[in-house]
Amino acid sequence: MSAHKWFCDYLSTSGAVNIGKLWQCPSHSDSYPSMSVEEGEDGRALIYCHAGCTFMEVCNALGLHAHLLFEEHPWNAKKVFQANPIKPTFCKVSYAGHGGSNKGRMSFHIQHHQFTPTVRLERVKYEDGSKMCKWQVLEGDAWYYSQEGKINLDELPLYREKEVIQGSFMDEIVVLCESESSVDALFNIGIYATTWAGGASQPKLSRLKEVLKDMRVLWVPDNDPAGLKCSAVIEHELKPVVRQWKTLIGAEGEDAKDLVKRSAITLDSIVGLFAHPL
Ligand SMILES: [Zn+2]
Repeated sequence: MSAHKWFCDYLSTSGAVNIGKLWQCPSHSDSYPSMSVEEGEDGRALIYCHAGCTFMEVCNALGLHAHLLFEEHPWNAKKVFQANPIKPTFCKVSYAGHGGSNKGRMSFHIQHHQFTPTVRLERVKYEDGSKMCKWQVLEGDAWYYSQEGKINLDELPLYREKEVIQGSFMDEIVVLCESESSVDALFNIGIYATTWAGGASQPKLSRLKEVLKDMRVLWVPDNDPAGLKCSAVIEHELKPVVRQWKTLIGAEGEDAKDLVKRSAITLDSIVGLFAHPL
């Protein structure tokens, strides 16, 4: 195990909270994660406390020898933690009241979308409306941010793929849309729905074809330039392989969940759409 992964595991075993690469610093009273932990070359852990604690202060607070942050580890962090007489304490994290120039410290809303038992997408929505998406992987019983490029999006199943396949056995109509939150909104009103990992810029055509083949599919692209561009590709590729195909586009700027919100998509309305041949 790389020193970096091991160290993150050690911090988490000790009770530290992280937001992305920022972890609670063990050496000062850190009510909001302010110690960055990055992975250096050869897997070493590079740490930097933005409040000014030194590297040695951090190691001392954890009761760890510095070399543990540079070397590969044959044992897991839990074992070392149990043998270590120095137990660091971390204060309760407060997400509120961290306004200022650092956007990470503004109030935000986190949603997790599970793709496989061990891979999920974290979507963070900030107060100013901007969004951030990051992939996470499950290691042991903790989630970690995946390194850039480590997850092959092409190999991931579609979002809620299993449920959609089950639905298709009952000949349910499946809505294909462009975001996980839209899929969840549709499931909430009893409609089977799915999307792919990676967004409008990179539709996973082969996976979509494989799963949606012979199903009745309602395609609801986002009505924005990226969505409409993606829509043309999706329709061209998928229409020939599905049993029945319909496309529904909302007003400018709308996505599937907006249509759900204003009841432009309901279970009855989509059944009605498919009742008429072509
Ligand atoms: Zn510190």
